[in-house]
Amino acid sequence: MEEVKSVNFIEEIINNDLLEGKTSEIITRFPPEPNGYLHIGHAKSLCINFGIKEKYNGKCNLRYDDTNPSKEDIEYVNSIKEDIKWLGFEWDQELYASDYFDQMYDYAVSLIKKGLAYVCDYSAEQIAATRGDLHTPGQESPSRNRSIEENLKLFEEMKEGKYADGEKVLRAKIDMASPNMNMRDPVIYRILRATHERTGDKWCIYPMYDFAHPLEDAIEGITHSICTLEFEDHRPLYDWVKINCGFTTGYPRQIEFARLGMKRTIMSKRYLKKLVDTGVVSGWSDPRMPTLSGMKERGYPPQAIRAFCEAIGVSKANSEVDVAYLEHFVRDYLNINANRVMVVKDPIKLTILNAEDEEYEIENNPNAEEKTTRKVTFSKNLYIDRDDFAVVPPPKYKRLTVGGTVRLKGSYIIEYVSHVCDEEGKVVEVMCNYIPKTISGQENANMKVKGVIQWVNAKDCVDLVINDYDYLLLDGEGDFDKRITPNSHIVYNNAKGEACLKDAKPYDRFQFMRIGYYSAVKDYGNGKYEFNEITGLKDSYGK
Ligand code: ATP
Ligand code: MG
Repeated sequence: MEEVKSVNFIEEIINNDLLEGKTSEIITRFPPEPNGYLHIGHAKSLCINFGIKEKYNGKCNLRYDDTNPSKEDIEYVNSIKEDIKWLGFEWDQELYASDYFDQMYDYAVSLIKKGLAYVCDYSAEQIAATRGDLHTPGQESPSRNRSIEENLKLFEEMKEGKYADGEKVLRAKIDMASPNMNMRDPVIYRILRATHERTGDKWCIYPMYDFAHPLEDAIEGITHSICTLEFEDHRPLYDWVKINCGFTTGYPRQIEFARLGMKRTIMSKRYLKKLVDTGVVSGWSDPRMPTLSGMKERGYPPQAIRAFCEAIGVSKANSEVDVAYLEHFVRDYLNINANRVMVVKDPIKLTILNAEDEEYEIENNPNAEEKTTRKVTFSKNLYIDRDDFAVVPPPKYKRLTVGGTVRLKGSYIIEYVSHVCDEEGKVVEVMCNYIPKTISGQENANMKVKGVIQWVNAKDCVDLVINDYDYLLLDGEGDFDKRITPNSHIVYNNAKGEACLKDAKPYDRFQFMRIGYYSAVKDYGNGKYEFNEITGLKDSYGK
């Protein structure tokens, strides 16, 4: 069946605009506030904005919304760029809201001159108390009828630092009885003494988001300003600012879509920062984090993240997506792109009494587009996983048992002979014989066995450290702090892997057969290699 690609509602709007000749070029922007690392929710926004750029041969700017100096940091600015590049997107211009502070100030002055803005003496509390509510109109501030001259003078004095933080604000003069609360004389400038990352101490007044954002979009010539649903009620204000500051072409136009939410994780920078600051995770790039840099460390392929964003689509209804759906795309990609290798997480010795040294060519990935093989060596001294041998097997156990047989992956069928325990009764070694001519393609290969287990050769295997992860949050709803999964990071210090893992470079991805998908972290330098669990083998999506 051929896949029919439907047009989402944003593309429908753009197509109509083009058809009606309202614009000939489509320009979008991605406007992160540099107050944290990007997360998977941002990936959705990135895929929408850069997707439109690619589809319409348009442009997409990266614009840092740095109007809130106290929370912003250069570390975040840099990480955001890295993450966007990692996803494979290229922005046209790198811009900063703070680049426009002078222009924004001039636009504010122009509003005052038109009688559309006034300096208000109310405190934040007084403003909140006089806003009214959905049933009651707000009360006009006594400052509302100041003369234009007085407003110009006071606003300039605000800029010059004559007043304390919060002592005065500049408000748009719109309608205190508007059914839309955002239109009840919103604050558009506030006094804040904070050193700004880029403008230093030049300013002690900063524009509010609702005033700054439409101006940033308009100055840059953005045609479609795509944001999340909570800004729908702000759109009348967005348009008010745009029009009253003299941008009357109809562009930029704001379009809202539903935010991505995911189960078993947190999608708010504020909460993620709390996890970092309280040491619940090792940092913003901890492999358990839903940040893009965390997913990179975890080993998620960027292609899978983009495929996921494509599949969830764009809608106007907020919903929570199951993490299993994202993992489904990760597996889909890795199934084709990750080589298989044998690893034992918790090794016990397996001695093959009748064995001699041998070497096999084993296929790297039966599902790869280009088939390749690697050398795997076999000897008398192997390791298998503790879970793959049972003295008293549980029901339906298909691995090696006392008196039983099992196939060693890619090698012989072996037959139990004896085993040795330590003082505590823990198995330390299993002795077997291999059954001749049972390798695939040989005479006795069809001999019936219940199971296949993986193994490594003690002579050339690599020492591994393996990090396994659980979801950050327990299933359910409500308070994040009470839902943190205990022990969501499990370390296997003693694991062993096939010799070929010696050549693994950071971020190389593998399927550890019968275990899961893993990504190389770094060379320990002492001959030990570290791997992060990307995801398990079983697809739980759709269950
Ligand atoms: P957070 O609440 O996580 O801090 P934010 O909306 O404040 O998110 P911004 O840096 O302002 O983060 O976001 C940059 C862009 O990414 C905005 O256009 C925003 O709408 C979008 N975005 C943020 N979170 C999500 C999400 N969960 N799903 C889709 N888009 C998102
Ligand atoms: Mg924000």
